[in-house]
Amino acid sequence: MFRSLHMKLMLIMTLLIISLMTVVGAFLVNSVSGFYLNQFYTQMQSVFQNDADFYHDLENAAADEENGAEQIAQMLRTHTGDLGVDGITRNYYVLDGVTGSPLAGSTDAGTAALELTYNLSAALSGEVGDGSDISLDYMDVAIPLTRGGQRYVVYIRDNKQTVQSLTGQLVTLILEALGFGILISVLLSFLLSKTLITPIERLTEGAEEVAAGDFSQKIEVDSRDEIGVLTATFNDMAHQLESTLQEVENERNKLDTLFLHMADGVVAFSREGDIIQSNPAAEEKLGRALPIGGGVGYDALFGDIAPLEEALEPGSQGYVAASLEQGERSLELLLAPFDKDHQGGVLVVIHDVTEQHRTEEMRKEFVANVSHELRTPLTNIHSYAETLVDSSGALPQDTEQGFLNVILSESERMAHIVQDLLTLSRFDSGRSELNLTEFSFADAIESMINANLLEAQRHGHTLTTLLEPGLPQITADRERVTQVMMNIVSNAIKYTPDGGQIQVSAGMAGTDTVWLEVADNGIGIPSQADRERIFERFYRVDKARSRESGGTGLGLSIAKEIVDQHRGDIRIVEKETPGLTIRVELPVEGPRHDKA
Ligand code: ADP
Repeated sequence: MFRSLHMKLMLIMTLLIISLMTVVGAFLVNSVSGFYLNQFYTQMQSVFQNDADFYHDLENAAADEENGAEQIAQMLRTHTGDLGVDGITRNYYVLDGVTGSPLAGSTDAGTAALELTYNLSAALSGEVGDGSDISLDYMDVAIPLTRGGQRYVVYIRDNKQTVQSLTGQLVTLILEALGFGILISVLLSFLLSKTLITPIERLTEGAEEVAAGDFSQKIEVDSRDEIGVLTATFNDMAHQLESTLQEVENERNKLDTLFLHMADGVVAFSREGDIIQSNPAAEEKLGRALPIGGGVGYDALFGDIAPLEEALEPGSQGYVAASLEQGERSLELLLAPFDKDHQGGVLVVIHDVTEQHRTEEMRKEFVANVSHELRTPLTNIHSYAETLVDSSGALPQDTEQGFLNVILSESERMAHIVQDLLTLSRFDSGRSELNLTEFSFADAIESMINANLLEAQRHGHTLTTLLEPGLPQITADRERVTQVMMNIVSNAIKYTPDGGQIQVSAGMAGTDTVWLEVADNGIGIPSQADRERIFERFYRVDKARSRESGGTGLGLSIAKEIVDQHRGDIRIVEKETPGLTIRVELPVEGPRHDKA
């Protein structure tokens, strides 16, 4: 490019110089020829026309019939200076006025035959021949004379050699000037190209760097002309482009991070149904790898839900919604086309609603359980109260008393259930604050054992305690922790046939955790499935037996909530021995949230 622009500049300058010199040269040559021609005729006019005496003398002075031509030549010789006759380029001739043959002249050649020019033939026919033509290679004037009855023609002829040598010199001069001009034009074009092309070249290099993505180079602006303005504008543009690209990059990074870590799965397909992008959540939810452009396509994954054509043109709604059962998961899918105007494709958003479904199921089950649990005592209360009303005091007093006791115990049971439900609801809504204090873990266990001793004795159980020495002070809600222990021990009492063995042991696990285990040799929970569910609300292994013993099926779920609030752990200890062992672990320092 540099070369071509440089050459163009040089060519323009050279052509300019050549055309200028040609015009000047032509003008000069023409002017010189015109001037010379003009001067010739002015000279002739001043001698032959303006000087009337000389013309008169030519015709009359000492007219001699014999030697007329010689005499005329003689007179002309005296005026050679005025006529500019030099005998080389300009000569005069005296011709016979009838035949035109030369009789005398300023040179010996004057006697030689002359070319019959236009002016000469005019003079031979008696008229003054003074017509001029710049294109001819001579100039001439022919004047007819009558002397002594004899006709003569005075003929002055210039062969233009002077003007030709002058124009020759002029042309040489012009050619020399042209040579210099061309040299100067080459130098000038080189200088111009330096000042004009170098910045353009720098601009081009800068543009190439920007195109290659390197925005760090700033092109120097060292002039205030149009190229300087262009360079400054280019720098601004590159700067803006860089910041715009940076913004786009940031946005893309943000979107990439969002895409990578979002909980919902997203898979993008091309119009042909090939995967063009997917996030880890999508792979996890669909339970398979989703390689980009690899074997798995739209049809294999979602073809059964909606054909690709339908997903690309979903009608007025703008998307296709569907559900998919993937193993144990319930997925909700949303298939929508993107960038319809260009290449585009289909975007599938996968939302996992398994937990939602489970929660909904649990809620329904909970409501059914609550209704059922309340209906049983209510039915009892209702039927006993009705019998009492119907009998209007006709029943024996013992029976009546018995009925009233049933009504009392059933209403207590209901109150118990409602109380437990309220406790749970407080946990659920986060309104239950722990009242943390520091107390001796061993003391709390012993008081709880004492409170249960009587009941254990009533069932003939042997209640033993095995506490590691040096149990620490712990930070917890004493009342709630006692409630948990009471529940576990009373369960052990309840679900162990009379005369059983119940052992409460406690100790330290590491330096920051205390543990408590309540082991019985009762009925236990043989089924693994039941063991996994006993911390669920209203879950009871043997409903009849539980109810009979006054259980609500909420005790262990409340215990779990309390232990969770303390950031502890409650679980069944897997053992081969008969009966059930429940273990509780609590942090010594209390529920510190940073341990979560
Ligand atoms: P409930 O009020 O019915 O005792 P819990 O939530 O305390 O409710 O216990 C849930 C279920 O776990 C009980 O119904 C019972 O079937 C079972 N269970 C709890 N403790 C024991 C135990 N020590 N031995 C056998 N089964 C138990």
